[in-house]
Amino acid sequence: MPISLTNTLTRRKEVFAPADPKRVTMYVCGPTVYSYAHIGNARPPVVFDVLFRLLRHEYGEDAVVYARNYTDIEDKIIAAANAAGAPIEAITDKFMAIYDADIAALGVLAPTLSPRATQHVESMIAIIEKLIEMGAAYKAPSGVYFAVERDNDYGKLSGRNQDELQAGARVEGEDDKRNPSDFALWKAAKPGEPSWDAPFGAGRPGWHIECSAMIERELGSPIDIHGGGIDLVFPHHENEIAQSETAHGHALARYWLHNGFLTMDREKMSKSLGNIVTVHELLEQGWQGETLRWALLSAHYRAPLDFGEDLLKQSQASLDRLYGALLRLKHVPAPPLKDESAPLAAFRAALADDLNTPAAIAELFALATAANTATRTDHQARAKAELLAAASLLGVLQDDPEHWFRASFGEEAAREIDALVAERVAARATKDFATADRIRETLGERGVEVMDGPSGSTWRRKS
Ligand SMILES: [Zn+2]
Repeated sequence: MPISLTNTLTRRKEVFAPADPKRVTMYVCGPTVYSYAHIGNARPPVVFDVLFRLLRHEYGEDAVVYARNYTDIEDKIIAAANAAGAPIEAITDKFMAIYDADIAALGVLAPTLSPRATQHVESMIAIIEKLIEMGAAYKAPSGVYFAVERDNDYGKLSGRNQDELQAGARVEGEDDKRNPSDFALWKAAKPGEPSWDAPFGAGRPGWHIECSAMIERELGSPIDIHGGGIDLVFPHHENEIAQSETAHGHALARYWLHNGFLTMDREKMSKSLGNIVTVHELLEQGWQGETLRWALLSAHYRAPLDFGEDLLKQSQASLDRLYGALLRLKHVPAPPLKDESAPLAAFRAALADDLNTPAAIAELFALATAANTATRTDHQARAKAELLAAASLLGVLQDDPEHWFRASFGEEAAREIDALVAERVAARATKDFATADRIRETLGERGVEVMDGPSGSTWRRKS
């Protein structure tokens, strides 16, 4: 099934054709590891995880090489380490581990490669040396800068004109640049900051060169897909393109994909508004990882997404409905699928159409309805298998349905509910229907619905 993707570079939806279908390459800019990831930071890894799953389905699991980096050297990290009086690695190791755990809770598969910027400083130095030799970069007292006038295409990704490019380019401590749009490839060593020796003077890399070097080293350019949040288009990705394409003489990436902004209750998340919510906090509040994932996929990836408690509740209710269908068919085995039915094909077509997750979610509900209304066991089995196959591409319904409902109540409450359900089963066995009805009511007040079936009674959250 052809996959089409909206390419920021051409501003068009294009049919995706990898340079080599046996080795499809994708790079997504990863986190700067100095604090907890907020929910907006989780949107790119979740969105590109769906694309990773779709590409693996289309080209084969081993044919897709996906790299997502850790930026483990950067101004904010140095500031955090100084504030904590700790070495840089103490900060970065801690927050890399926290990031990995938080993102895994959202059902994000580990990328094929997870390079750390500090492991690739030599490659960064090599690119910078080459750019200096070519006359495309120059040394100033505060560091080494890329001369944007040497790149005739500068601005092609963001579509900014020269005035707009300059407006965004004033950076403190970089007064010795020849042109305000020039950007730092290398920052000269300062006391109290980590630095590496280089032929052009000790210092540390700028942020943009980190990704260019990791892409070259880990994947080789041009890569097929480069992704990230829309806030990275300028200057980060524009500068990755400028330095890589000037140094190597060919494209850095063939398809550029960007996900939209996330707002919190219709406001931009910011420290000053105090409305930053971290993935860690949301998980600690008891929201399940899949609920957060569902919320992040509920809007088209290119569209803005407004996050908030209402969206979380809706997302939980949607997943309850799907897990409810699985719970009903708990004892029906899901056979391997030999062919693709129309609703499963429609689900895949929605995802293949520029990752249209809202349309894919609608198809998922159609599959759940088919599972709920099937009466013959073979139809039930097939409907369950199709629902699970579709859900695995979206990275949801990965939990056991009973565990899903238990986890949403918490283990202590779940055990109390178990005890009440067992009491009710006992009452019914002795034909004490008054007691059985009373217990059903009590459970109902707690938001629990009991489902009696041939193989016993199960329960779920009431919709
Ligand atoms: Zn990057």
